[in-house]
Amino acid sequence: MNKVRLGLTSLMVSPLCMGTLTVGPTQKNLPLREAADLMIRAYELGINFFDSAEIYGTYPILGLALQTYPEMIVTGKSYAVTAEEMRCSIEKARKELNRDYIDIFCLHEVENSAALKGHRGALEYLYEARQRGIIRAVGISTHTVAGVRAGANEPGIDVIHPLINRAGIGIKDGTVEEMIAAIQTAREFGKGIYAMKVLGGGHLYREAVESVRFIRQLGIVDSMAIGMQSEAEIRFNRMLVEGETPPPELMEEVAGTPRALRIEDWCCGCGRCVERCGFDALRLENGVVTVDRDRCMMCGYCARVCPEFCLKIV
Ligand code: SF4
Ligand code: SF4
Repeated sequence: MNKVRLGLTSLMVSPLCMGTLTVGPTQKNLPLREAADLMIRAYELGINFFDSAEIYGTYPILGLALQTYPEMIVTGKSYAVTAEEMRCSIEKARKELNRDYIDIFCLHEVENSAALKGHRGALEYLYEARQRGIIRAVGISTHTVAGVRAGANEPGIDVIHPLINRAGIGIKDGTVEEMIAAIQTAREFGKGIYAMKVLGGGHLYREAVESVRFIRQLGIVDSMAIGMQSEAEIRFNRMLVEGETPPPELMEEVAGTPRALRIEDWCCGCGRCVERCGFDALRLENGVVTVDRDRCMMCGYCARVCPEFCLKIV
């Protein structure tokens, strides 16, 4: 794949970014070696950009893959609020990736300017780490129009990882048109943009061709992160991002069963998952948790907080 410059950074990334959440512990949970081999295969197929986060539990996978291709470009993310929390997050990432530096490090889920202000200590630590060469670019990820605007207006932010898809699924505070306008502004301010949830967390998987084409034709996104679990999916998405039409047999191979959140019946009704879900997709009534499948983005974040291990994306 041709590489593009990510905003004003020095990073040259593939227009398709490999999302790693889908192979991690809360989703496919591939064995470490198998998952690392998939990353290696992705790199050999032209993808040099890999999206991860502390909460995904996938740094060790990339750490193993980096032993084969140390030049892979990797993103880490953290919910750190203070400088000390961010220092710990970065050290954890460096240790698990087994690399001295991280290409991009993001504040995870920054939803507006107040949240950015609340994370000021962590953000200042990121700026300092960039100056010391420990990280190469500072970013935020966000599910909101307000988050993109906040990132655009913060001079030190290099990269924004916003939620965008043709149906506007998962945008928490506005329409798809408002999100496009916010991203356009951020881009004019020189921010590198790599999109998330371009397939609506799986809801648009039957319309993958149109959905990826929509993002490409916007012309405001440098790269798009898509979670992939097999070489067939990598080949399929690579073709879409390059504007090609995958052959019918490849389409059939990746069609598969749509993913969904499974809730086991040994749930104790503690409600932690309901509090954690940023998409208001879970309800707790009479001690029973239910999921609104139209709202669920299949991020698997709720699974990370369940003390009974009863949530999983399958
Ligand atoms: S229910 Fe769980 S998987 Fe679905 S959007 Fe909420 S946190 Fe993500
Ligand atoms: S966190 Fe787990 S145990 Fe608690 S309510 Fe949710 S599913 Fe049930």
